[in-house]
Amino acid sequence: MDYELQRKSIKNVYLRVKPPDGRVVVTAPRRMSAVAIDAFVASRRTWIEKQQARLREQAAKGIGSAADERLGDTVMLWGKTYPLRVVEGKSYALRFEGGGANEAIGANEANEANGANGANGAIGAGESPRVNGAGKTEAAAEVVFTVRASSTDEQRLAHFNGFLREMVVAEIQHLAPIWEERTGLHAKEWRTRFMTSRWGSCSIQARRICINVQLVHYPPECLEYVIVHELAHLAERTHGPRFQALMDTFLPDWRRRRALLKA
Ligand SMILES: [Zn+2]
Repeated sequence: MDYELQRKSIKNVYLRVKPPDGRVVVTAPRRMSAVAIDAFVASRRTWIEKQQARLREQAAKGIGSAADERLGDTVMLWGKTYPLRVVEGKSYALRFEGGGANEAIGANEANEANGANGANGAIGAGESPRVNGAGKTEAAAEVVFTVRASSTDEQRLAHFNGFLREMVVAEIQHLAPIWEERTGLHAKEWRTRFMTSRWGSCSIQARRICINVQLVHYPPECLEYVIVHELAHLAERTHGPRFQALMDTFLPDWRRRRALLKA
């Protein structure tokens, strides 16, 4: 089995299967022999193949799971692409910088991101900074992601995804009350989640709406469209003529917004 080998001053050998292509990266102590490393990789063969199959499956699904995207040189936020600069520091933070903007997306002292990859994130009354209000950040020259030195790719990604979630939560906290008021339809609970095949979902019985965090990559009007769409399900389960008539009333340009999500 092919793998990429990195030697470091560490005590144990580590193996990772990296998205999106499933390449295998082994980090080994400087003095560990090649034979021993080969044997270690061979012993993990079943696990490696399982991980690779999982990654292929996710890639085939289309939207892709943000939890498995690697941090690239750029990041698309609210429909605009920014250069992404990763710097090391004492704690995790994500900021818009340059072009007159210096806006914190979030900062996190804790070791673990708050459920960045895990279960549904319920949205409470707590405050998240809303960063794309009034186009404040549009002029930003770059997005700077501060990571703890010596953190792993997985830890960095978990925090990054946690910050993306915070951005979406802040927007929902702003938009949901406005649209509940306008439509007269009220959800009992709003949640966010990284989803691969849907932009949102609505449990009509529980009156619970779940919004896909990946909407953070699209123009804010797309998130707004999904919020209204899911609220409309509280009045009409199907996507039939009655549903479309509701959408026409609530948000006349909803088809244009939906088309942006398909582009
Ligand atoms: Zn629907």
